Amino acid sequence: MALIVQKYGGSSVADAEGIKSVARRVAATREKGNQVVVVVSAMGETTDQLINLAHQVTEKADDRELDVLLSTGELVSSTLLAMALKSLGYEAISLSGAQAGIWTDAVYSRARIITVEAHRIVKELEEGKIVIVAGFQGITRDMDITTLGRGGSDTTAVAMAASLGADICEIYTDVEGVYTADPRLVPQARKLAEIGYEEMLELASYGAKVLHPRAVELGELFNIPVLVASSFTEAPGTLIQGGIAMEVRNKVRGIAHDLDVAKITILGVPDRPGIATAIFESLAKENINVDTIVQNASVDRITDLTFTVAKSESEKAMRAVEPAVKSIGARGCVLNANLGKVSIIGTGMQNVPGFAARMFRALYEQGINIELITTSEIRITCIIDQARVPDALVALHKAFELEKEGI
Ligand code: ADP
Ligand code: ASP
Ligand code: MG
Repeated sequence: MALIVQKYGGSSVADAEGIKSVARRVAATREKGNQVVVVVSAMGETTDQLINLAHQVTEKADDRELDVLLSTGELVSSTLLAMALKSLGYEAISLSGAQAGIWTDAVYSRARIITVEAHRIVKELEEGKIVIVAGFQGITRDMDITTLGRGGSDTTAVAMAASLGADICEIYTDVEGVYTADPRLVPQARKLAEIGYEEMLELASYGAKVLHPRAVELGELFNIPVLVASSFTEAPGTLIQGGIAMEVRNKVRGIAHDLDVAKITILGVPDRPGIATAIFESLAKENINVDTIVQNASVDRITDLTFTVAKSESEKAMRAVEPAVKSIGARGCVLNANLGKVSIIGTGMQNVPGFAARMFRALYEQGINIELITTSEIRITCIIDQARVPDALVALHKAFELEKEGI
């Protein structure tokens, strides 16, 4: 008998039929003699609709109230799934994040899990029940409800698997696994049979939203194998686990993209100590997450400083740096909020020359201008015009021959 954690995403439980279909899949896993814990997302677009609703009643939604509001989405789907399972004749119980013992810090809208006290779940499992946990939420020691950030139900699932010592965490979604690129934008994308944590983390962190990056981190930390597969078909999915060959033939394993990039350039910055501190401290004070930072070499001790943030934070970031821009005597700052990024990723790129050149050529041949470039050991990222991201993905997929069979 195995202990399996299964997670079903929003599109898998979008309506009553979806919930009944998920109930049948869960029941089938139980019938095979497994103990099952299920984590569910909110139905369909519920989370977006709730955010929208909040913004209809106020310009600036209170962080604490917003998290309670959003957590209700997952309560609806988890309770309905428990009812559907009971009507199929199975013992099932739904638990909110708090009831499931998911303790978090108090950073609303992107809380981190501190610990999972799973004794209630263990008790229910021992009584033979299927346990359904509302994803994406937890509770602080002060008993305030928190949410884990968009896409956070994946993280709930892997955290549950880690704390229960589950044999596997299965993430069921609306595609059949992890592909070499988003299959919705690149028709030639190929499903990977397996991928290591390190490459998967880089893909997820750079935009492949099929898995929440923190879920991958937890999987690696606790050595939990994670299977990504379809909620709608029986096709074999992608297994994410450690110990996968590093020197693979296809040295680029996948391409990630992100359409949510805004670039802020501070012009005419005097090149002297303390300038970067002034600018980035003002952003940190406002809790704004800065991604890429580039500072040019100065000419006559004057330079430009560029950084990127999420589009949703770009206006706030402009306001936050304004006083610093004035106080350091810079010429001004400009915002471009219509950018995206494409990243090629693969551990096999380490210490092998030529990948960057091939990437830049592929983009150049499409007439795509590169605004910024960043790299890590196993990744090269180009920031480009958002409208050209689909073309860039297709061109890069071809240039690195990702449609060809590899590992
Ligand atoms: P869920 O609601 O099940 O959590 P998400 O919408 O969060 O599903 O994630 C699944 C989506 O991730 C897919 O529909 C696909 O468009 C997108 N995606 C982006 N990159 C990839 C990739 N490399 N492989 C598979 N899917 C990807
Ligand atoms: N419902 C949340 C969201 O839409 C969490 C999740 O689906 O993973 O982001
Ligand atoms: Mg998701």
